[in-house]
Parts: sequence; structure tokens; C-alpha cells
Amino acid sequence: MTDPDKPINFIQQVINHDLESGLVDRVITRFPPEPNGYLHIGHAKSICVNFGLAEQYAGGCNLRFDDTNPEKEDEEYVNAIIDDVRWLGFQWQGDICYASDYFDQLYSWAKYLITQGKAYICELNSEDMRAFRGTLTEPGKNSPFRERPALESLNLLEEMKTGQIDEGRMTLRAKIDMASPNINMRDPVMYRIKKMAHQRTGELWNIYPSYDFAHGQEDAIEGVSHSICTLEFAANRPLYEWFVDNLPLPSQPRQYEFGRLNLNYTVTSKRKLKQLVDESYVEGWDDPRMPTISGLRRRGVSPQAIRSFCDSLAVAKTDGVVDMAQFEHFIRDDLNTNASRAMCVINPLLVTLTNYGADKSERFVVAGHPNRDDLADRNLPFGHQIYIDRNDFSEDISLSRKKFKRLVIGDYVRLRSAYIIRADDLIKDDSGEITEIIGSIVDDTVGKDAPEGIRPRGVIHWVSATDCADCTVKIYDRLFNKAAPDADEESFLEHINPNSLTLIEGCKAELGLANASAGDHYQFEREGYFTRDSKSDSLVFNCTIGLRDNWKI
Ligand code: ATP
Ligand code: MG
Repeated sequence: MTDPDKPINFIQQVINHDLESGLVDRVITRFPPEPNGYLHIGHAKSICVNFGLAEQYAGGCNLRFDDTNPEKEDEEYVNAIIDDVRWLGFQWQGDICYASDYFDQLYSWAKYLITQGKAYICELNSEDMRAFRGTLTEPGKNSPFRERPALESLNLLEEMKTGQIDEGRMTLRAKIDMASPNINMRDPVMYRIKKMAHQRTGELWNIYPSYDFAHGQEDAIEGVSHSICTLEFAANRPLYEWFVDNLPLPSQPRQYEFGRLNLNYTVTSKRKLKQLVDESYVEGWDDPRMPTISGLRRRGVSPQAIRSFCDSLAVAKTDGVVDMAQFEHFIRDDLNTNASRAMCVINPLLVTLTNYGADKSERFVVAGHPNRDDLADRNLPFGHQIYIDRNDFSEDISLSRKKFKRLVIGDYVRLRSAYIIRADDLIKDDSGEITEIIGSIVDDTVGKDAPEGIRPRGVIHWVSATDCADCTVKIYDRLFNKAAPDADEESFLEHINPNSLTLIEGCKAELGLANASAGDHYQFEREGYFTRDSKSDSLVFNCTIGLRDNWKI
């Protein structure tokens, strides 16, 4: 956002103009989630845009819960959203705001519009209301209740509020223009009856304001200068402005719309994500396969990677689908810089080193990161028996050195940060499976070049068989096997990838990993990036992402 080489986006152009012309003296933005689900990667873009602009212009950004629909909202979501915004590293100005704190003020503005002849209580049922609304090509018809006296509407509104009128019987509507080419302007609903307790206002209200009536007024109360939302609200902007123009508001906010972030191979809709949770397709909102902030966190993605990714995206007036590989590029880039190196053998195969005494042991001190002195050194125990990965051994000795840079009988490999070893023999069980390799070390090769005549095929990772940590590894694939899983609205569940989780037990990690905490990032050498799972008591590592970047720019 503050990259001086980056061309400024259209919202920054507007802000520059507003500041220069004196229209605005302090930039106030807001991030206004409805607490009806957990935040996802799309929200992260909105968070980065709103908090980023506030930071850039030394203004402020409010965190405001748009809690106008008690039916779908919950305290659990409020807390999760607060945690996520904080974790991303943003700080809102002042206290957290809630639309429900403004219910009294909104109600008195509703009464004001009635007294001005600009709102009325309508008794059309929802079916008739729809029929009267007209279509894109045909104008609507006026409600028969449109001209009822203001006093009557005022009294009915009070009765609606106090619960004397049944749900669905009446609404409060703005009196604008039933012939407007913009359907949003055809006498939109301002209040609906909903006899439902609200998580913050309890039983106080039996009516709740619509998004359109609430949102702009909330912005005005908070002094929001630039109210930034996604493109689907573009058609609501004239209505936003109508309320701003027709109410005695304390400030005059303006709405701007930018394109939503959509990522391929996943869905970014709270409703659909909730369905995945409710119908147990995933473990929960923070399942590491979910595109939620909490899922990404549990998966091992850092807040910085999310922010760098979001900042790389255009803030434009068009919607677009971003390639998951682009996000993965930022995840990998960040982890490559910041993850400590470690060794974990995912498919262990025992190697007994016959010329290294069973009573002998050593410890090698190894850098935590090739070019980060600030990351702690590791201490690797070495001994008579070690584990290497099954995939790093082949029985086929005819494999060329070029093709198979790993261990075969009669040849050498370098153990990472330790000795060069040779495989001498192997042991199989009754089923023919290799259970053990018999090998030997080449003396005096730790931290030294190979002696004359010995040329290791490659470098492989290993752990001490006696001093290691048992662990489980979870490898994730994309949650959907179709690039646009929700292209046809009904069937996104049909495109769920049945192999999105591979659980591998019995892995052997270097000893220090036993003390890993959730949120510590590791590069398991030659395997990928991992973090400890926050939800398991035993030692479980989630694979954040593989090592290789297939994304071509
Ligand atoms: P969903 O469709 O997932 O339910 P929403 O827009 O209803 O999302 P809100 O809680 O209302 O969710 O969103 C809070 C803010 O985040 C809004 O300003 C909204 O425009 C923005 N936002 C939501 N989804 C995206 C997205 N995919 N890309 C960018 N901004 C988004
Ligand atoms: Mg919404």
C-alpha cells in the first residue's frame, strides 16, 4: 500500500483529490463485517484496503460490526473476527463499533423521514411487494399505503417496534420512486419486523433496520469519509446517497466500490463456508483447508504473507478471479525467508551404521536458517541408528547417479549436516518389504569435503533413531478439484476434492521439534513448510505448502 513505485489506485486518487480540495480533512475508513461467519481471504483484502488507507493517510479505520440481522449472527463470530483482524496486525481507532449501538438513532431518523413525508408503513405482504416492484424493464406500481398520513405511520412504527404487530405484516419503506430505473430506489424497505432477541440488545427491538438504511447512517455517525465496499453494492449507491441527502446527518460520507477478491479452487462466501462446516465436510471454520483467516493461520500461513498478497492485488473497479498459485507464491516467499530449517522423516526407514558404535553418540550444531543469524541454532543428535526417508533409498542399483541422487546399495550419500554414508546391505521382512538398511559412515566427513575417490550421489535428510520425536504430519491439497467450484450455484459441494487431506502417522522429527509451538514456521528440508497444529495435544504438523513454486509470472 505504501510502495512508492506502485501506481496509485482509483480510491487513492479520490482521497488525494478530497484532501487537496479540502472536502475531507482526515481520512476515516471502516471495515464492517456482519458477524454471521468467520472472515475469509476476501475479507483480508478489504481489511488491507481499509486499514491500509487509514495508515497511509495517517487517518483512522473503524472496526464495526454490522449486526443488524440477529437471525444469523453470533457472539462466537464477533470474537473470531476481532482475533483475526488483530492477528493480521491491524489496530482500529477507538472502541469497536456496533451497528446495534445506533439503533436508537436510526429509529429516530426513520421517524424523521416519516414526518418529512419520505417514508411510510406499508402493509403489502412480501409476494405483493415483489409484484408491485416491477422488473428491470417495467416500472413498479405505488403501494396503496404510500400516501397514508404520517401520524398513522408513526404510530404503526411504534407498534411494530414494541412487538404488537406480527412478523411479515408490515414494513417501513422509504418513499422514493417506484418508476426509477434502479430497482433499489423503488421504495426500499427500511425496517422489517423480526421478533427475535439480538445478541447485544436482547429483547428490546422487534424490528431491525435493513442494510441500506443502516449502513450509510452508521458511516455518518462515525464520521467515515470514504466508505469502501465491493462492487455488488454499486447499484445501492444512489440509495446510500438518498439517505445522506435526506437526513440531518452529522457528516456526509461517500461510498466507493472495488472488485471482490475471488480465488480459484476455493469459495469465498460465508454462506458456503458455513455449509462446509455445518455439514461436516471440514473440521470447522479453522480447518487448515479453509480459505478463512483462522484456517490459514492454523495451516501455517503468516499474517505478513496474507498482507503482501492482498497488497499485490489491484484495487480496481472490476471483479476478477485470482489464481491460487499467486497466493501460494507469497506464502512460500515469506516462509522461505522466515521459517527455521528442520529435518523430519515422513516415511522412516531404519539405517544401522555398523562402523559407528552403539554406545557412541555426537551432537552437531547446525544453523536454524542459511542466512538468518537471528534464528536459533539446532542441536542434532547422531548415533548408531538413524532414519532416512523410504523414498531416498532404491533397490535398483542400475539407476544412474543423475536420475537418482539418493541412496543405493554400494554407493554413497551425504547426510545433511553430518557424515557421508554408504549402503552396504538391506533386510526385508516376510512380505518382502525393506525393514532396515545396513550401512556405514565415512569417517571424518562432517563439515568436510568428501575424500578422494568418494562421490556422494546427493544430500538427504535424516534423524537419529534413538533421539527423535514421533509425530504425525497432515498434508493438504486444494479443497476443490475444480477451478470455479461455485460457477454453477447449486453444486459446489460436488466439486469437493475427496483427497484434500492425507494423514501420515509415525513420522520421525528432529528432537527440537518436540517443543514446537503453533505459529512457529519450519521448513522441513526437502519436504515443505510446516507448522505445529494448534488443535492437537500430540505432536502434529500441518503442511502449509510444498517447496516448489510452479507459478510462472
Ligand atoms: P460473504 O459474501 O462472504 O458473506 P459479505 O460481503 O456478506 O461476504 P461482510 O461481513 O458483509 O461479508 O463483509 C465485510 C466487508 O468485507 C464488506 O465491506 C465486504 O464488501 C468485504 N468483502 C467481503 N467479501 C469480500 C471479497 N471477496 N473481496 C473483497 N472484499 C470483500
Ligand atoms: Mg454482507
